[in-house]
Amino acid sequence: MADVPPHLSPSSASSFDGCPRRWKFKYIDRLPEPPGQAAVVGTFAHTVLESLCGLTQAERTKDQAKVLARELWPEHEESVEHQSLNLSDEESRAFRWQAWLAIAGLWDLEDPASVDIVATEQKVTATLQGVPFLGIIDRLEREGEKLIVSDYKSGKVPAVRWRDDKIQQVMLYAAAVTQDQDEQPERVRLLYLGQQVLDYAVTDRRIEEATDKLATTWSNIDSACTSETFEATPTVLCGWCPFAAKCPEGLAELTRRQDSGNLLPHAPAGALISSAN
Ligand code: SF4
Repeated sequence: MADVPPHLSPSSASSFDGCPRRWKFKYIDRLPEPPGQAAVVGTFAHTVLESLCGLTQAERTKDQAKVLARELWPEHEESVEHQSLNLSDEESRAFRWQAWLAIAGLWDLEDPASVDIVATEQKVTATLQGVPFLGIIDRLEREGEKLIVSDYKSGKVPAVRWRDDKIQQVMLYAAAVTQDQDEQPERVRLLYLGQQVLDYAVTDRRIEEATDKLATTWSNIDSACTSETFEATPTVLCGWCPFAAKCPEGLAELTRRQDSGNLLPHAPAGALISSAN
């Protein structure tokens, strides 16, 4: 029997729902999962925005964000995560520009000087429908009396049909805050930097939907760990799975897609098939 993890975070739950085998490689076998460039850009942008929110309201200007980005860059550049990208000088310049566009994109959504910050990077733990939940909230803020949970996103705004997962993740944060602080946030916001704010009212129905789904995932994880059976769920995402080389079903999916002309050329794991031919 595999050990069930002590907590379930939104990203872990989403990973298991996407492919239990991939989840097992990461959360049970603890194999390193090198982040892609987009994720590392997001990490740096988050770091700068967190520091920006630590300043007084009047200090939260774009110029100050530039100063912070410059100050925080050397430490970020030395991080294992960034080093794993192995960027050339030119690629590094492109990375910094991409990160700056994400950071400056906050001003397309709001004036940070007018935001009443309560906390940033707040760790919350709660027991939601019996599930030991753990999450880190990018930003908690007040708008008048209202408490609001905000989450920065540096990726593209998902199409409407793919939004439920993202909404449920922030609803879980709202549920955890309600339990942890005895106050239910009124709204959750997904701040897609440089693009759009997705803003939702926190309702009992939405919280229930999100926690129901979390409880189902937790139960499925428990069954998978007990039986040590972690089903592979091959999809187009196998092309971006860092564990594809260890997964026969994933390799078969990549081969099937290549043979049918449906293997996307920019999918990194596609190289496994090309190199095998
Ligand atoms: S290659 Fe595909 S099926 Fe295999 S673990 Fe990765 S995502 Fe799952």
